[in-house]
Amino acid sequence: MLDKMIKKKEKNKHKDKDKKKHHDKKIVEAKKRKSHKNFQFEYSESLESTDVVKIQPKNALFINGEFVEPTEGSYFPTINPGDGEVLAEVAEASAKDVDMAVRAARKAYETTWSKISGAERGKYLFRIARMIQERAREFAVLETLDNGKPIKESRDVDIPLVAAHFFYNAGWADKLDFAFPGKKVQPLGVAAQVIPWNFPLLMAAWKIAPALAAGNCVVLKPAETTPLSALLLAEVIQQSGLPPGVVNIVTGAGATGSHLVNHPDINKVAFTGSTQVGKMIAKATAKTNKRLTLELGGKSAHIVYEDAAIDQAIEGVVNGIFFNQGHVCCAGSRLLVEESIAQVFTDKLKDRMQKIRVGNPLDKNTDIGAINSHRELEKIRDFVNGAREEGWDYFSASATEAPSRGFYHKPCFFNHVASSATVFRKEVFGPVLAISTFRTPAEAIAKANDTPYGLAAGVWSEKASKIQKTALGLKAGVIWANTYNKFDPSSPFGGYNESGWGREGGRHGLYPYLEVQ
Ligand code: NAD
Ligand code: MN
Repeated sequence: MLDKMIKKKEKNKHKDKDKKKHHDKKIVEAKKRKSHKNFQFEYSESLESTDVVKIQPKNALFINGEFVEPTEGSYFPTINPGDGEVLAEVAEASAKDVDMAVRAARKAYETTWSKISGAERGKYLFRIARMIQERAREFAVLETLDNGKPIKESRDVDIPLVAAHFFYNAGWADKLDFAFPGKKVQPLGVAAQVIPWNFPLLMAAWKIAPALAAGNCVVLKPAETTPLSALLLAEVIQQSGLPPGVVNIVTGAGATGSHLVNHPDINKVAFTGSTQVGKMIAKATAKTNKRLTLELGGKSAHIVYEDAAIDQAIEGVVNGIFFNQGHVCCAGSRLLVEESIAQVFTDKLKDRMQKIRVGNPLDKNTDIGAINSHRELEKIRDFVNGAREEGWDYFSASATEAPSRGFYHKPCFFNHVASSATVFRKEVFGPVLAISTFRTPAEAIAKANDTPYGLAAGVWSEKASKIQKTALGLKAGVIWANTYNKFDPSSPFGGYNESGWGREGGRHGLYPYLEVQ
């Protein structure tokens, strides 16, 4: 009997203990929630309306000023990476369609575009620029739907820069003689332009605006995952009254791009995309008279000196690799931080990352939207898994959990990474940062230059002389000082080595579209 009673007492004691444990746990959790709330606001969703865009279920090619069905009648889907759903069907241009587009461009070049004055050409470009501004919201929403980038980026960065590029180049159209003083300039003829998916409309503007200002006609092929904003631009171009054939837009994948760049009646090829395809195009055009510019990949580095304004540098690093999902050719994907501040810097970076919002691209609060395609997401995951298997220090955080549908990847970094590590050498094209340290400026420069690429770099220091000296040692086309990813139509952009040939933007960007004698 006594035995039984003792047992019961023991049992109750355990029960009480369990209860107390449970109670304590609840208090700790509540405290956690409270302190979390104290330092971080809860955001309510703020979705941009999609009412401004009307997406056609089937989208034709834009040839000779008209929307025409593809001759072989084949279409392919473009997806909204934000939810993985099909947005629309888009025409796949065959060799025959590409040929029609090139013929239209040639005819327009010979009969109208090369005959009118620079001032007249400028008027059309100014008109297109104004029309883009008027329909800016529509372009921004469409870009976000098709590409997955956050609305705040397409609205505040991409589309304003698109209009700015048209305005800037419109201004050059009647001043080409002043762009290259003492020289005689002439357009080349017909340009074939192939662009990627990371800045769909901005890359179209970088290609079309200088080509037209310089007096050329173009056939543009947008990327297969993001063709819709270029087709809306075609509509604007049609409404602007631009003579038919001056701009033609053919949609399709690599095969269409290949038909275009290999067409015999092309005078110039402008390509932005992967180094692999860039090399193929370089080989194919080497045997021809075609001019070629290439804008390829990168593995750009930040160099952060111990005297840098640390919080400002943190923002630059975060902006340089995490925003736009790391889908930026000049993404600052490597961070070289001076050893003396490395610990402080990475601690601060961790704190900052915990406030980054990954989510619906249409939400105005979203910092990191959707990865452009399932294929790209898989590629990024493979890189991250590979680097984790190699054993590099991994950190990943964000303020929000990614939506369950669509293609998302949290921001992350690998710390104390060796220069030989894959994640330090290869372009990931996702929100993945590789961090290493240095002790002297010479070591920082050597590490930054230790790459087959050479597109951009960021230097962070309070001392102008140090920045200047570092910049002179860096083999990169663009070097930002105490800032990153800042673009302006008047400044040239382009790379060294495997990052490409030639420059886009500014006076330099006109040069590849002109015969300068
Ligand atoms: P990609 O080079 O395959 O595609 C870019 C463009 O070229 C697209 O319009 C595509 O249809 C076209 N293309 C593909 N094969 C072609 C061919 N043989 N001839 C002519 N045109 C062809 O790039 P991607 O597959 O979209 O992306 C792969 C990688 O490229 C990315 O992960 C990234 O590393 C890099 N990339 C770089 C940039 C950049 O701005 N430098 C942009 C996008 C992608
Ligand atoms: Mn798409």
